[in-house]
Amino acid sequence: MRLTFLGTGTSTGVPTIACRCKVCTSTDPRDQRTRPSVLVEFDDRVVLIDTTPDFRQQALREKMERLDAVVFTHGHADHVLGLDDTRVFYLRQQVPLPIWADQRSMETLRRIFIYIFNGTYKYEGVGKLDPHLIDGPFELWGLRMIPVAVLHGGLPVLGFRFGRAAYVTDFSTIPETSLPLLEGLDVLILDALRHKPHPTHSNLEQSLALVERLKPRQALFTHIAHELGHEETNALLPPHVRLAYDGQRVEL
Ligand SMILES: [Zn+2]
Ligand SMILES: [Zn+2]
Ligand SMILES: [Zn+2]
Repeated sequence: MRLTFLGTGTSTGVPTIACRCKVCTSTDPRDQRTRPSVLVEFDDRVVLIDTTPDFRQQALREKMERLDAVVFTHGHADHVLGLDDTRVFYLRQQVPLPIWADQRSMETLRRIFIYIFNGTYKYEGVGKLDPHLIDGPFELWGLRMIPVAVLHGGLPVLGFRFGRAAYVTDFSTIPETSLPLLEGLDVLILDALRHKPHPTHSNLEQSLALVERLKPRQALFTHIAHELGHEETNALLPPHVRLAYDGQRVEL
């Protein structure tokens, strides 16, 4: 299995519009972060977690040639607004694109993309989706996806465990009942917005405490704001914990 970070930035992306701070003006390419998403490739299948507003650029950058399914963590703009751009894969593959989301996120998707969901629109350039509600673990071509319930402020959001990896973004709290699902991992990907606490996101210190407790072999942090420079932040972290960067690949 191979993971590719399509994006590792917070909702605004980094650089942030109109900001001249040292991370936003950095020349290190790892300080340029598009909106957060990860690609999971296994047995010639390609599964995407979230469709960000940057999806088109990400797909071009990574030379994506197919897409078999999309799994959604939640319905916020930085995680869903690129859904329309997946239609090129429907047009290439001629199979309605399976998408997976919980009830709340599916309702948000239906509302935003009503022209895709309501089959009455005649224009043939519109994509076709094959929606599935997540109400427990599910399988994608033999890969078991286990939803991990977390809280993003007060909003219930899903992380996912698949094989010996897990992707958990946009959370401030991981309930005790979800923590056992994140044990015994080779790679744990966690939200780590910045140093200062935030009402709806985990910060660096909180995510480090989770890594201490869950003991993955490797931890990678994502959904990173412009407060964290790549190199200077990595210098503060233990060797098995790193900030992820756009385009980073992890083989499992
Ligand atoms: Zn987000
Ligand atoms: Zn900045
Ligand atoms: Zn969010």
